[in-house]
Amino acid sequence: MKEIILVKYGEMALKGLNKKTFEDILIKNIKRRLKGLGHFQLTSAQSTTYITPLDEDIELEDVAERVGKIFGIAAYCRACVCEKDFADITEKSIDYLSEILTGAKTFKVAAKRSDKAFPMKSPEICAELGGILLERFPHLTVDVKEPEIVVTVEIRDTNAYIHAENIKGAGGLPVGSSGKAMLLLSGGIDSPVAGYMMAKRGVHISAVHYVSPPYTSDRAQLKVEQLCQKLTDYCGGIAFYCVPFTEIQEAIKDNCPEEFFTVIMRRLMMEIAQRISEKEGCLALITGESVGQVASQTMAAIACTDAVCRIPVFRPCVGMDKTEIIETARKIDTFDTSVLPYEDCCTVFTPRHPKVRPRLEDIEKAQNSFDFEPLIQKAVEGTELKTFSFGG
Ligand code: ATP
Ligand code: MG
Repeated sequence: MKEIILVKYGEMALKGLNKKTFEDILIKNIKRRLKGLGHFQLTSAQSTTYITPLDEDIELEDVAERVGKIFGIAAYCRACVCEKDFADITEKSIDYLSEILTGAKTFKVAAKRSDKAFPMKSPEICAELGGILLERFPHLTVDVKEPEIVVTVEIRDTNAYIHAENIKGAGGLPVGSSGKAMLLLSGGIDSPVAGYMMAKRGVHISAVHYVSPPYTSDRAQLKVEQLCQKLTDYCGGIAFYCVPFTEIQEAIKDNCPEEFFTVIMRRLMMEIAQRISEKEGCLALITGESVGQVASQTMAAIACTDAVCRIPVFRPCVGMDKTEIIETARKIDTFDTSVLPYEDCCTVFTPRHPKVRPRLEDIEKAQNSFDFEPLIQKAVEGTELKTFSFGG
């Protein structure tokens, strides 16, 4: 029996004339993610992509697992390929769905006939096949409202397909369809989640990370690199910029009032991220901030940070509780890495009494008392680039 994977689009299906562009990106992304699993043929029709394995030894379970993490896919299922012939459809349904139907109590048949030349109409297919399955699996009853199993028959261009499970996909839009943005990636819990959430909206992520040796260790950087690698499961390839930040932090400590340390540091992070974004072609910044979580994330503090930003700053975690962020971090498997206990540069020189409602003019005055420009340039020049791609 020949089995394939059917991939159904979500929002993308509504994109009108642009749909083809989205579809091409999705197919490219699927091809990349299936690398190493064997050869496949990918074809598309009617808001569905067909993944047909071309090698004998391909494990469809592995394919399905990867497909489940690709954005732009609303639902997917394994399906059995049949001739466009009712006898073949019946025979294969009994065989292919035997286990699942044996374990169920109620079912119904749903038919979709996009090939109108097929001699039976959809209600006829449902009634005939339903009757045959009832005879063959007499413990079953039909429940049209809330069946445990929906046996779906799709009559399409070249073949008919049967399946009985629709698995929810990762949703969103294909990564790359919304352009590129720069994620400020710390080793914490929130920023990897923020990156995941923007990738879900089709944004291709690049990442920037600030290190302050010797205050921060190599292991802290390694942890962030591991997070980056994990994010590639959902985000695809990531260009990772590591910025030497020690001199800037020391200059803040030596020249600015302690209560403003964090906000000034955040403004300088944003400035550097924007300069790298220009070179990298990123159109926005992304952070893991959430309103009220810490002193530097009050609305007043965020306003002071945003005042230096020339491109939009996306903060997808802004309205989430920590527990919700953690739930997502667990789902995308970044949580265990995030909670490893290495120092982040943010925790170096943390003020004892940060100002919760800083005023922009006070911050600007404090920051302007020292010329950070040469240090900013030096940090940008000293930035190291590493690339992470799906599969390591
Ligand atoms: P996270 O869990 O993402 O670290 P957080 O709640 O600990 O967030 P902060 O440490 O105050 O909050 O950082 C706020 C945001 O600033 C982070 O979400 C991240 O986007 C950015 N950020 C903080 N530290 C760094 C760093 N060392 N490198 C890059 N970005 C950073
Ligand atoms: Mg942090």
